[in-house]
Amino acid sequence: MKKIHKAVMLIIDGLGDRPIDEFGGLTPLEAARTPCFDMLARGGITGLMDPLSPGIRVGTDVGHLALFGYNPLKVYWGRGPIEAVGVGINLRPGDVALRCNFATVDENFVIINRRAGRIRNTAPLAAALDNMSLGDGMRAIFKPATEHRAVLVLSGDRLSAEITNSDPGPVSEGEPVREVKPKHPGQPLAEKTARLVNEFVRKSYEILRDHEMNKERLKKGLPPANIVITRGAGMAVKMRSLTERFDIKGCCVTGESTIAGVAQMAGFSVLMNEKLTANIDTDLDEKARLTLEGLKTADLVVTHIKGVDLVAHDHRPREKLAFIEKTDQMLQKIIDGLDDPQDTFVAVTADHSTPCVIGEHSADPVPVLIHGEGVLVDEVRSYGERACARGGLCRIRANDFLLSLLDLMGVTYRFGS
Ligand SMILES: [Zn+2]
Repeated sequence: MKKIHKAVMLIIDGLGDRPIDEFGGLTPLEAARTPCFDMLARGGITGLMDPLSPGIRVGTDVGHLALFGYNPLKVYWGRGPIEAVGVGINLRPGDVALRCNFATVDENFVIINRRAGRIRNTAPLAAALDNMSLGDGMRAIFKPATEHRAVLVLSGDRLSAEITNSDPGPVSEGEPVREVKPKHPGQPLAEKTARLVNEFVRKSYEILRDHEMNKERLKKGLPPANIVITRGAGMAVKMRSLTERFDIKGCCVTGESTIAGVAQMAGFSVLMNEKLTANIDTDLDEKARLTLEGLKTADLVVTHIKGVDLVAHDHRPREKLAFIEKTDQMLQKIIDGLDDPQDTFVAVTADHSTPCVIGEHSADPVPVLIHGEGVLVDEVRSYGERACARGGLCRIRANDFLLSLLDLMGVTYRFGS
């Protein structure tokens, strides 16, 4: 039997960036003190990676699908179903899943705060909406997700995901909640689904408005989470898992339900607990501990870091730099705790760039590296956007990056005789 090597793949969400004036034209990663990443770059092979292909900007879900070995053009379900899997809902074919936000509206349904002040611990609010009757024997499944997010699933055989969003979008304070409509006129299934979602949104306001937790929030001067708004409707399709395809065991450490969803679809087990907040206050020591725990049984452990992306969206390069440095220290702890450091590959990558100047995802490629036995060490001495442009992996796509790692691990198959 061939020997399988283990690997840790660290995904730093939104890592890539552009020159920052206050760092003398360096990126946050280039300006950060990252002894561990640099040690891995010196002793490993580096490169630049496009999530899909040059010039294509991707979302976190698509970037992760690609890093888990899928062609998102073929298997993308929409964000709703990914989130649903991530919060532990077992989707059946034909179910329609939607991403939701708890939000704050006034009595005319005008949005005051689209994330209800990034409310956390929404389980009591979600429980009040779960199993809601929408008529025709239809019931809503509703579960809380990370922070202000949640998931709505409608089960039935006569539904359609071809519907619009009730959420008016990222910069929508002052705009009213939208009525959900079929994307194309004259689709009875989409009309019915839109009607059900509109009813859910309206009832969510009636139920949440007077909820005890919101009364408490008002007393503290916090925005009440008095409505649920929806987006990203999608339907589940069947796909073969990565772990089945290569006969490996996978484990994912994350605080984010979207990543947990993609990982579970790929056949990975997920290690997640309340110490992992998917924000900059997450417990990185706990993440290191869970990564080492995962390695005891899994061949490949994927550890995901969200905070770097969040502060980049908020145009905060200094916080991005600081969190990159903390992530570097976390990876050093993981390496120090490895049972068999000689026989474990360490890969560092990202799902996309989020330059602080624009505060949005960009198509800039991200720096990547693989460290471990037998890699063709290149001349790159540090881990950064410009340094890795000279690396031996050259410019690679996310699918190919994962496959290259799997090949080094010894789990791929020969094509041909
Ligand atoms: Zn992302």
